[in-house]
Amino acid sequence: MSVADDSAGQALETDASIYKTLLESTRAIPWKIDWKTLQFAYIGPQIEPLLGWSQESWVSVDDWATRMHPDDREWVVNFCVSQSQSGVDHEADYRALTASGDYVWIRDVVHVVRDEAGEVEALVGFMFDISERKRTEQELLRLQKELEELSLRDGLTGVANRRHLDQILEQEWERAQRHNQPLSLAIFDIDYFKQYNDCYGHLQGDECLKQVAQLLQAAIRSGDFLARFGGEEFVLVLPQTDRVAAQRVIQRCYEQLAKAGIAHSDSPISEQLTFSCGLGSCLPGAIETLEAFVERVDRSLYEAKHRNRNALVIADTD
Ligand code: GH3
Ligand code: MG
Ligand code: MG
Repeated sequence: MSVADDSAGQALETDASIYKTLLESTRAIPWKIDWKTLQFAYIGPQIEPLLGWSQESWVSVDDWATRMHPDDREWVVNFCVSQSQSGVDHEADYRALTASGDYVWIRDVVHVVRDEAGEVEALVGFMFDISERKRTEQELLRLQKELEELSLRDGLTGVANRRHLDQILEQEWERAQRHNQPLSLAIFDIDYFKQYNDCYGHLQGDECLKQVAQLLQAAIRSGDFLARFGGEEFVLVLPQTDRVAAQRVIQRCYEQLAKAGIAHSDSPISEQLTFSCGLGSCLPGAIETLEAFVERVDRSLYEAKHRNRNALVIADTD
């Protein structure tokens, strides 16, 4: 071997040791799997502080697959095998099992190495600890969901708000139309609520609205939908419910209100709080639009107010 060869050899060795140092000092964990034997040819020592399994314990792909969350295992293994077989670089997120029984979110980024004939020879890759990112992602999703829920709920009473009502009403209208089923809609408006506030104060007025929302909720069936429409108005959407069945539900609402016996000493018509109700039932789409239907029910409520309140008025059938 010539002097020149010798120094070239030394340079190569120095390069290799630099690469090794670099690889083993990154936070990402490098690894290599021989495709024919499906054995680990290498895995970085950083694996041990992260997952707790020793570097030597990573022998074959089975060690990788078995140290994975059971819910992730099947799709991750199938996905990685099929991508590797097709020679496609890929990445997968999964939960890796730690020696102490916890899970760490890993992003595995995989490069497929081919030989001169183009055959898959090995897989090389990096495992990244993405637990922090996943936690942030999950927290963000949770907040998003919470925000969405809040945006559909009435802040005072906790029942659905106007926005949610609009969505549900449209949805139920279409569903009833598709299945040719009846739909009922009721609008309640508390009688002389302005006087209630004047007499008992706005805060107690708020408490009263909460109580009314609760008693209405208690009176309806599980598939029925209650929303606060505005100030002291509440709306019930009753899917698959004809006029006779709807009347029974409204009857229960009146009974619950009477049972609650909320004092209203300034009401000109009763010593207790009362409400008026407009009710309509129809087969959606038969002849009228949703808007016309709501309008018709609203007119019935107006009519109930004119009939000295504390009354239910049923809209003519369409
Ligand atoms: P009517 O019998 O004709 O329905 O008379 P009313 O006094 O109930 O009706 P009106 O529409 O004149 O007044 C509704 C009152 O509801 C006025 C408003 O101060 C009160 N109100 C609306 N929203 C709230 C609320 O969130 N809290 C309280 N405490 N009062 C509210
Ligand atoms: Mg009103
Ligand atoms: Mg009112």
